Amino acid sequence: MADLVSHPDEVKVVSRRFGQGAANLDRYLELDGYKAVQKALSIGPDAVINEMKASNLRGRGGAGFPTGMKWSFVPKQAPKPKYVLCNGDESEPGTCKDRLILEHDPHSVIEGVVVAGIAVGSHTGYIYIRGEYRYLSEIMQKALADAYARGFLGKNIFGSGYDFDVYWHGGAGAYEVGEESALMESLEGKRGVPRIRPPFPAVVGLWGGPTVINNVETLASVPHIMLGGGEWYASLGTPKNGGTRLFCLSGHVAKPGVYELPLGYNLKKMIFEVGGGIRDGNKLKAVTPGGSSTPVLKADECDVGMDFDQLMKAGSMLGSGGVVVLDDTTCMVKYLQRIMMFYQHESCGWCIPCREGTDWLKKTLNRFHAGGGVEKDIGNIQYLAENMLGRTFCPLGDAAAMPAISIVKKYRNEFEDHLNGRPCPLEAKALEAVPA
Ligand code: SF4
Repeated sequence: MADLVSHPDEVKVVSRRFGQGAANLDRYLELDGYKAVQKALSIGPDAVINEMKASNLRGRGGAGFPTGMKWSFVPKQAPKPKYVLCNGDESEPGTCKDRLILEHDPHSVIEGVVVAGIAVGSHTGYIYIRGEYRYLSEIMQKALADAYARGFLGKNIFGSGYDFDVYWHGGAGAYEVGEESALMESLEGKRGVPRIRPPFPAVVGLWGGPTVINNVETLASVPHIMLGGGEWYASLGTPKNGGTRLFCLSGHVAKPGVYELPLGYNLKKMIFEVGGGIRDGNKLKAVTPGGSSTPVLKADECDVGMDFDQLMKAGSMLGSGGVVVLDDTTCMVKYLQRIMMFYQHESCGWCIPCREGTDWLKKTLNRFHAGGGVEKDIGNIQYLAENMLGRTFCPLGDAAAMPAISIVKKYRNEFEDHLNGRPCPLEAKALEAVPA
């Protein structure tokens, strides 16, 4: 079980059942469970989609696409079955909030899948959970079995005449499969590489049928929107950024954890008040605001609201909500080297700019941090990353390029400090501090 944290500034919507035993179906029902499905069945698809549009809910997986609009793209009439696919392949470094939802409130995810299905006229949903979250798959399978046993899933749900089945599927452990088209390939039993788009999944998705794909946190927000109303949910956030967000605050803060805060919450306040400030009295150096793939912000750039639009304006992204805080003991060259090791390992290798780019970046950074760097390498890192950006089949290439570009640009002096055989200055300082 993951530890839970809390802070008075939190607005608990998605996390309101955390720690309440809601994985148990009877307890979930005491906490308004499955009322959203019943409401969706009574008001019908168009009203559900209108409520979702009014909520200003934007996808919590990273891209931030408006959920109601996404659902409205699914054609009403389709020659093939329609599907709902829940993306639980949470793998972005710095991000660990979907696992809390799946652990503490699995029925809310199932309920979100069913509501999405009613909205788009689908009768089948899949919940795909990353391979490393095997223990959560057991929780989810039990939740599904319990829901079937009560008639909340299967034929004629809630006596409505509507049929809906939900299946769990466990991944095999690939970051790339978090990308929606690779997720579909994987679920269909093929190698998890992306599809060329268009067509988009809302029109041609799983087994060629129209498919709604949403992240776990997005779908877990849906029952709350159905019961509280779209306008209420929208009012919790900022214009065009409705509701709350689970922020995974990690790194060098005194009180790391997953906190649910309104969208637009100030990043500096999040670090110094919610997170208790920087550990050991150190100074803030940099923040990755939305998972390792998002451009870093310097300490003096952190007075910014955490929503999709404000972070975009600040030159970064809200991404997956993984806020990684770095203090002044961090070597930014080493930080980038570690990020690149991850992306090079996870690149599926299908397209050249990503396959070759991540490999060359990793090799260059390894050599650079080990003291073998020359001045030309700094420009080469920048050049390689800039030539990956926007030139790959899926966002993994961008995910690797964006932190590289921002770190070289904002911390070039640290790269220069490593030149010509000089050891990493911060590691040398740390070694000096170790008692003889
Ligand atoms: Fe594969 Fe990378 Fe190309 Fe995505 S960008 S398809 S992960 S090689």
